[in-house]
Amino acid sequence: MKKLFQFLIWLIVIMIVALIVRTLLFKSQQGSYILQEQIISEGESVKNLSEAIGFPTVSYSIDSSIDTAAFEGYLNFIFHKYPLVNERLEREIFNHFSLLYKWRGRDTSLNPVVLMAHYDVVPAGDNQEWERGPFSGYNDGTYIWGRGTLDDKASMISILEAVERLLREGFVPERTIYLSFGHDKEISGERGARTIASSLKKRDVKVEFVLDEGMAVTYGMVPMIKKPVALIGTSEKGYVSVRLSCSLPGGHSSTPERESALTVIARAVTRLNENQIKPQLSGPVEDFIRYVGPEMPFYAKVIFANRWLFKSLLLKVYTGSASGNALVRTTTAPTIIKSGIKDNVIPVTAEAVVNFRILPGENSGSVIEHVKKTIKDSRVVIEPLRDFINEPAPVSPVDTKGFMAVFRTIRQIYPEAVVAPTLTLSASDSRHFSEITRNIYRFAPIMVTSEDMTRIHGLNERIKAEDFLRGINFYYQLIKNLQQ
Ligand SMILES: [Zn+2]
Repeated sequence: MKKLFQFLIWLIVIMIVALIVRTLLFKSQQGSYILQEQIISEGESVKNLSEAIGFPTVSYSIDSSIDTAAFEGYLNFIFHKYPLVNERLEREIFNHFSLLYKWRGRDTSLNPVVLMAHYDVVPAGDNQEWERGPFSGYNDGTYIWGRGTLDDKASMISILEAVERLLREGFVPERTIYLSFGHDKEISGERGARTIASSLKKRDVKVEFVLDEGMAVTYGMVPMIKKPVALIGTSEKGYVSVRLSCSLPGGHSSTPERESALTVIARAVTRLNENQIKPQLSGPVEDFIRYVGPEMPFYAKVIFANRWLFKSLLLKVYTGSASGNALVRTTTAPTIIKSGIKDNVIPVTAEAVVNFRILPGENSGSVIEHVKKTIKDSRVVIEPLRDFINEPAPVSPVDTKGFMAVFRTIRQIYPEAVVAPTLTLSASDSRHFSEITRNIYRFAPIMVTSEDMTRIHGLNERIKAEDFLRGINFYYQLIKNLQQ
């Protein structure tokens, strides 16, 4: 008995030592980067962003038409505002409105880089509810207001401002740089980014890395870290919606059978909701922990550094909130249910749609298997909505030149921020490039709080003028950092 007790004590001591050693070895990944020259942006940049916001380049839905005058007006504005970009770079237009610029590098043996942004925007909703007009580009001295200031015209204008300035300074890039600007990202990017990517593929262009929107410098959004956290998306979740339908004889509601099409579908939805797909730490979230964990307070560091012991605790914490849950599992969201026409008639059909956002490592096939296994009812017809399936984007490695260049540039321009890779929950145009490179990084140089996040696709979208200027410096410095 005494021996057993001693053995247990020793086991606990060894475990505590292991925990502490692993925690001490859990070293910061942030490094130190000093920016030699502080670049000061000035001049017309802010006015140019205001003007860009003034064109209502709205994407409504895949099958509705667009205001072509707004798109043409915007392009003309770009062509005139950035004369050096438009004279010295090769320019191609895809499907009337998407732009690809090629800035030829000195060394054509190096793989080119693609900087991306999109300039279509989602509808503004009720214009009257905005504090400032959604297409006013109003500058109140601190903020520029309007649809597209965060998503994603600010990025496009920042890239152009940076490249125009570099051209003015006589800069010649070592490797070729493509600038890819889509006009239909908010409705799939099929005509814009996808067409551009397949054209590059046809020309056999091998890309070193792609940088597109997706994540940002976040304030107060990562629990237990006071500093801002700049996040770089290294994958994005997939998307599949599954339709469930059932037909059964109906009848009069005065003499109902025990089950009807309606109750069968209601139960199927409930089963899916109660039997969620198992959570797991995917590659990008593991990377996130490696980069962010060492910056946390000691007690949290112990947990993050010792995932061999605390994995289930970690998953429990993550799945406790909707946003954490979305990072660690393929989510299940019933979005549509339809049945019935009259209060005293038992419906003969019922249907529901459930939307799943798929974690890297899983796919639409495994989701559909899960749906079948969970519902286990042959009366329910299960079919995915084929037109809208996106598999999760391949996970991009973090030990590449591309990741390092983006990482280093963020550390230089936002030295106050911790930088970390992560999983992106929304879709971006960059996924269309996954056939021409493994290295796709999702970061736009904008600074956001969770309140700002509600303005993206919501009311009163706006950007701080000084944040926008910092974004220009980000692209300027990134292009310089690409030199060997
Ligand atoms: Zn966007």
